[in-house]
Amino acid sequence: MRVVIIGSGPAGVTAAETLRTEGFRDEIVLFSGEDSPPYAPAVLASFFEKGDEVIYWKGRDFCQRYDVTCRRAEWVDAVRPKDKMLITRKGEQVSYDKLIIATGSTLYAPIACHCTEPLEPGQQRFYNFKSMSAALQIQERIRRGEVNNAVVVGAGLHWYGDCPDIGRRRRCRNSG
Ligand SMILES: Cc1cc2nc3c(=O)[nH]c(=O)nc-3n(C[C@H](O)[C@H](O)[C@H](O)COP(=O)(O)OP(=O)(O)OC[C@H]3O[C@@H](n4cnc5c(N)ncnc54)[C@H](O)[C@@H]3O)c2cc1C
Repeated sequence: MRVVIIGSGPAGVTAAETLRTEGFRDEIVLFSGEDSPPYAPAVLASFFEKGDEVIYWKGRDFCQRYDVTCRRAEWVDAVRPKDKMLITRKGEQVSYDKLIIATGSTLYAPIACHCTEPLEPGQQRFYNFKSMSAALQIQERIRRGEVNNAVVVGAGLHWYGDCPDIGRRRRCRNSG
């Protein structure tokens, strides 16, 4: 029996852990679109401020310890329930007996841009702080000295920490 889980956020990881602690001994495959060990997005701010390892809340070695085949940086593009099959972005077909979809939520902001400045290839104007890969993109642009102005939409707890950090280098306006 093969259980496939899509998403290695807290929901997917807890599902895998629970299967193992409840005695399931067959194959578990965990797909994650991101190239990192399972992490807790709730600790993202602390991770970027202090490099806090607690972000890997189940340990970096979760996959080995729980005998889970973790397929990192592998997006699942489609599921064919009739065939019990999923298709990855790389075009691979993976069969399953049971499927757990733990893909979390997606950030959506209806941003209408009347921007005139051209973008470099690979650059984008709008970022989010919902995942580690998205937050790394913000950090990288700051590190390269490309951020002159940052407008933060949403004045949640995390930006009280992060916005001043951008602001120390340049200028930050929080619109939340
Ligand atoms: C900055 C921040 C702070 C937060 N603070 C708190 C807090 O203090 N307290 C609290 O309770 N909650 C907090 N949250 C919310 C909490 O992190 C989420 O509720 C929780 O992460 C949801 O877990 P999840 O596993 O359902 O989804 P997610 O954590 O979103 O995980 C889903 C995973 O699935 C992957 N995925 C999605 N689609 C695919 C696909 N097609 N193929 C492969 N992989 C895919 C994604 O890359 C992601 O890694 C915070 C969230 C953020 C971003």
